[in-house]
Amino acid sequence: MGDEMKINFELKDLLEASGRIIITTHMNPDGDGLGSELAMWRILKYLNKTPIILNTHPVPANYSFLQDYAPFNVFKKGDKIPDADTLIVLDISNWERLGDMAEPLRNMQAKKICIDHHPSNAGIGDLNYLNPDASSTGELVYEIAGLLDLKIDDAMGVGIYTAILTDTGAFKYSNTTPSVHRIAAQLIESGVCPPIIYEKIYEQKSVNRMKLLGKVLERLNSACEGRVVWSGVTLSMLESAGVKYEETEGFIDLLGFIGNVQVYLLFLEQKEGLVKISLRSKNSFDVNRFAIKFNGGGHSHAAGILMSGNIEMVEEKVVSSLLSDLECSSLDFGTCFRSANL
Ligand code: 5GP
Ligand code: MN
Repeated sequence: MGDEMKINFELKDLLEASGRIIITTHMNPDGDGLGSELAMWRILKYLNKTPIILNTHPVPANYSFLQDYAPFNVFKKGDKIPDADTLIVLDISNWERLGDMAEPLRNMQAKKICIDHHPSNAGIGDLNYLNPDASSTGELVYEIAGLLDLKIDDAMGVGIYTAILTDTGAFKYSNTTPSVHRIAAQLIESGVCPPIIYEKIYEQKSVNRMKLLGKVLERLNSACEGRVVWSGVTLSMLESAGVKYEETEGFIDLLGFIGNVQVYLLFLEQKEGLVKISLRSKNSFDVNRFAIKFNGGGHSHAAGILMSGNIEMVEEKVVSSLLSDLECSSLDFGTCFRSANL
């Protein structure tokens, strides 16, 4: 039996043998993490199991529609983890990305299943359902529903569509494969309404957020004749704009709208002394490999880093390291690559 088939059988057996199952994803959850959780929760309901979604952070407002289909619980530091015989971690390649839940979940007696599409995932679970070629973790959950002979219902459809939509940058990154469009077609046939989901996720911005975006664009820096660009958001910018940290989602995409830009970064002050860096590449420069140098990670075209320090210092350190790693002259104009997200 091939390895793939063996994992499929083991996954089915393990789910069959489970009763209470905790489902989780990374801190600051995104559409792929949350949508995959919803679809997995629904799959487990059909298997007559008791699934519990438990996350480090609440569901951001633009994904709150997912809560119409399943309860999303939030863990607080010091909370007891509910009893469960199985744990499913979605869209995560290392335990640290679970934040405060990392240690308690890792130390649980439960069997751990990891379902993920990050290339850096070395198999952090007891059972690993991994495929770095998948557009999203949601695509893998879709496959699992098929393995279990389950029909995609409305809730699963909404979850999987959200996951695929957000991780393909609304069907524009290089991970937008024929399979992505085939799955999306089936989800639409099962009742998903693309304009409604698009509007709920992307078109809920506040006026203050848009004004802050203006400031971020004004602060734009560039190098390599405009092929590398970066900007930042400080805590004081957030505060004076009256905008929450989560509302900065999507700012990075705007930097990619500029013609000729190949590599772009956004520095976000998460709290005093802690900076989140988003990196994107439209060419063969591997931002995952670059991020790993600073204990970050992700995919070759989209990666993230969490770094301690003052934002100006972090910006200076990362940009100078980046500029020494990439040769401006090798940054081609007009390549057909695009950043594949998440
Ligand atoms: P984003 O910039 O949208 O937060 O993340 C882009 C990609 O990088 C995602 O695939 C995400 O999983 C990954 N990523 C973001 N932040 C981190 C981080 O701190 N550590 C690691 N290992 N990956 C990250
Ligand atoms: Mn993902």
